[in-house]
Amino acid sequence: MQTEGLYYEYASGEPLRAEIREIRPLGEDRIALILDRTVFYPEGGGQSGDRGTIQGLPLLDVLEKDGEILHILSAGTGKNLLPGPAELILDTRRRRDFTVQHTAQHLLSGTILRLFGKPTVSMHLGEEVCTIDVDAPELTEENLIFLEEALADAFEGDAPVIIHLCPPERLEDFPLRKIPPRDEAVIRVVEIRGHDFSPCCGTHLERTGQIGALRILGAEKYKGMTRLSFIAGRRVIRDSRLLRQKGELVSRALKVPVAEISRGVLALLERAGQLERNLKAREEELAEYQARALLRELGEDGAPAGSRIIRLVFTDRDMEEAARIGRVALKLRGGIVLAASRRDFKFAALCGPKTWDLRALLQNAMTRCGGRGGGGGAFFQGVFPGTEELEAFLQALPAEAGPPGSP
Ligand SMILES: [Zn+2]
Repeated sequence: MQTEGLYYEYASGEPLRAEIREIRPLGEDRIALILDRTVFYPEGGGQSGDRGTIQGLPLLDVLEKDGEILHILSAGTGKNLLPGPAELILDTRRRRDFTVQHTAQHLLSGTILRLFGKPTVSMHLGEEVCTIDVDAPELTEENLIFLEEALADAFEGDAPVIIHLCPPERLEDFPLRKIPPRDEAVIRVVEIRGHDFSPCCGTHLERTGQIGALRILGAEKYKGMTRLSFIAGRRVIRDSRLLRQKGELVSRALKVPVAEISRGVLALLERAGQLERNLKAREEELAEYQARALLRELGEDGAPAGSRIIRLVFTDRDMEEAARIGRVALKLRGGIVLAASRRDFKFAALCGPKTWDLRALLQNAMTRCGGRGGGGGAFFQGVFPGTEELEAFLQALPAEAGPPGSP
């Protein structure tokens, strides 16, 4: 059924009376309403469908399918609807926002073509950010600044946006930026005077001054082209406000003016790096001190590096710290060192390269006691489900590993 589309003329929040002609189930949880006329723009031409209410019920989407305009509602909220008169109210803020983004996109693509000779291949108008794919391997930072300034000139120039309804045979009258659809009886050509001609079925502003502002947020390489992301109109103000708020937060935390926060952050990172290096050096010193004390306690300081397995079992240290002390003990004494953390239920065993085969020595005992882990000849580590399993493993360990070269 054909629906009269009033969306090009109608952008106000005034209720419009229409007639629900049909209510059609759509999958399990949605319904589609067919109306005699509508204020809601159906998704198409890169612009998403309008939102608003029908008889006070929220519209989830508007689609055009096989020549019909489908107004999508949730089956739950629409269960009491009947065919007959209904009141349509357009979400004007959202419509206006998309109309701004869409008109800005025409001007952006037209300006890129004029300045750099590069065509726009596709576009997407998102709820937060819009993108266009430009057939150019690269657009430099300088290009983008130049482009933003040229667009600001176009907003100040306040050029009119004119809609031409043109039969297909008259299309050559217009220097179109892209190829129009072939199967339409009438082609809508959107002209931004002095800037762009483009066939388009979306909603557009009347003048470029109404766009107000455009910011290019980024340029990334995409399938040999450049994908530009941008925002226009009030989105620019909201983005700027958010950035300012965040900037002020950082500025207060760093105690530097907003204009100097990048310098402040770099200085902070440098200081953090220095502290980290200092901390690492202190940790190594402490580990050496602790390893020496433990070896002394075990009567292993100065003793020749035999095949005994030196166990360093820690109750109140995590495995990272236990392993650090274990590494130092190995350096000081040689042989085999097994460090374990009762806090993490973990162990790590170390020996010099190509001396013993720790995997062969420990794998079985670990698995038998319910542990998981792995490693090689000179380093082997594992984890147990709890204290009991770790203790059983420590009990099961042999005191000696046998002569070097044997497991
Ligand atoms: Zn358009």
